[in-house]
Amino acid sequence: MASTTLELLQKYSVPGPRYTSYPTAPYFHTGFGAAEWTEALAVPAADRGLSLYAHIPFCDSLCYYCGCNMVATRDYSKTEPYLAALDQEMARTAARVDPTRVVRQLHWGGGTPTYLNPDDIRRLMDMMRRHFTLAPDAEISCEVDPRELTYEHLAALRESGFNRVSFGVQDMDPDVQQAVNRIQSEFLIRQVLDWSRELGFSSINLDLIVGLPKQTVDSFRRTLERVSVWAPDRLAVFAYAHVPWMKKHQKLINEADLPDSATRLGLQQAVNEMLGAAGYVNIGLDHFARPDDELVRAQQNKTLWRNFQGYTTHKDCDILAFGASSISQTADVYMQNEKSLKRYQERVAATGFAVERGLKLTRDDQIRRDAITRVMCDLELDFTAFGAEWDIAFTDYFADALADLRPLAEDGLVETAADRVSVTPSGRLFLRNIGMCFDRYLRDAASDQPRYSRTA
Ligand code: SF4
Repeated sequence: MASTTLELLQKYSVPGPRYTSYPTAPYFHTGFGAAEWTEALAVPAADRGLSLYAHIPFCDSLCYYCGCNMVATRDYSKTEPYLAALDQEMARTAARVDPTRVVRQLHWGGGTPTYLNPDDIRRLMDMMRRHFTLAPDAEISCEVDPRELTYEHLAALRESGFNRVSFGVQDMDPDVQQAVNRIQSEFLIRQVLDWSRELGFSSINLDLIVGLPKQTVDSFRRTLERVSVWAPDRLAVFAYAHVPWMKKHQKLINEADLPDSATRLGLQQAVNEMLGAAGYVNIGLDHFARPDDELVRAQQNKTLWRNFQGYTTHKDCDILAFGASSISQTADVYMQNEKSLKRYQERVAATGFAVERGLKLTRDDQIRRDAITRVMCDLELDFTAFGAEWDIAFTDYFADALADLRPLAEDGLVETAADRVSVTPSGRLFLRNIGMCFDRYLRDAASDQPRYSRTA
C-alpha cells in the first residue's frame, strides 16, 4: 500500500485516457464514413439542442508543447479556401438536421481562431448564423491567443455575438516561455484582459499548463499570484502531455528540463492551494470556477458533463463540429473529420463532408461512458440511482470495475460502500485512474493498447 501522495503519484502514473470521450478516439474506425454520419444527422432529436464547433487550424508560430491539430504559417491566403470549405461543410450538414433545433452553445477553437482577421471573424460568424438558428442566450465562446491580438479582433468577436473568451496564458515565467517557444509578457495579458472587460465579455477563462519544461514550484507560484490578481471567471489548468511519438515537434522540448514527479506534485498542490485561497472551486479534473459559476452549480446538481471541450453544462446537446480534425458527437455516435488540411478541403469540395472515422456506441459503451462521466463530474456514483436509470443491477454489471477499484480504495483514493463509490480528496488527483476501472476497452486491449499520455 502506497502511503505518501508522492508514492501514490509514482504508483498511479500510467498511460491513460483523459476521457473527453468514451470509447476514446483511438477506437474510432474508418468503417464509419459519410453514409453513417448522414444517417446519424437525420435521427430525430427534437429534444436535444445543438452545440457548434469550428476548428481554425492556423497559428503564427509553433508552441513546442502543442497537442492540437494546427498549421504554423504566415501565409494568410491559406484561410480563404479553408473558410470556403467550412461554409460548404456547414451547408451540407445543416441540410440534414431538423431546422427547428436551436444552437445553445457555439465555440471556436484551434489552432488560433483569432488568426482570422476581424473581417473574416465577422464573415465566419455570419456563415454560421446563416446555416443554423442560435438561441438568443446561446453561450458563444472563442479561444484567443493574446500574442498578435488587436483590440479590433476582440471587438469583431463581441460584435459577432461572442460573450465568452478563453486566453492561453500557460506560464508567465520567461525561462519556461523560452523553453516552449511562446513568449508573452505580463503587459500583453493585462491589456487583453482589460480590453475584454471593456468590451463586455461576460466570462473570461484563462488556461494554464503544469508540467512544462523549466517549471519550478516557486516560479509557478509567481504565475498563480499574478493570475489571482487578474481574477478571471474560470481557469483551466491542464497537465502537459508529453507524447513525442504522436506529436513530433514535442521533440524540440529538452526532456531533461521536464519537471520530475515530486515537482509535478508540488505544482499541482500549489494550484489547488493558491486557487482555493483565491476563492475558486475545483471542478473535476482540471477546471476551476467561482462558487456562483454555473459549472459549480451543475456539479452540485449532478448535471455537469464532459466532452471534447472539457467540462460543460450542455449535456443534452449534439456537437456538430466543422473543420479539419474536428470531432462531432450525437447521443450515440462520434465522428472525426480528416486531419490533413489539404485532404479536408479536397473532400469537402467533392462531397460536402470529410469524415475520416467514427464510431456508433453500443448500449454497453453508453452505460460505461455515463459511469466514467459521473465519476469525473460528480466525484461519486450512486449504484441504486445509476442502476435504475440504465435498468441494470449495478454491482453485477460492474463487478469487474468494483474489483479493480479495491486497490484504489486501499490506497485511500476512493471510498466504497454497499450503495456508492466516492472519490476522496486525495483521489481527485487520480480521476483518470478511477475512470479507467470502468473502461472495457482498456481491459480487453492487453498488448495492442493505444498509447495515451500519463495520468499523473
Ligand atoms: S497557439 Fe495553441 S494551437 Fe497554436 S501552436 Fe500554440 S498551443 Fe498549438
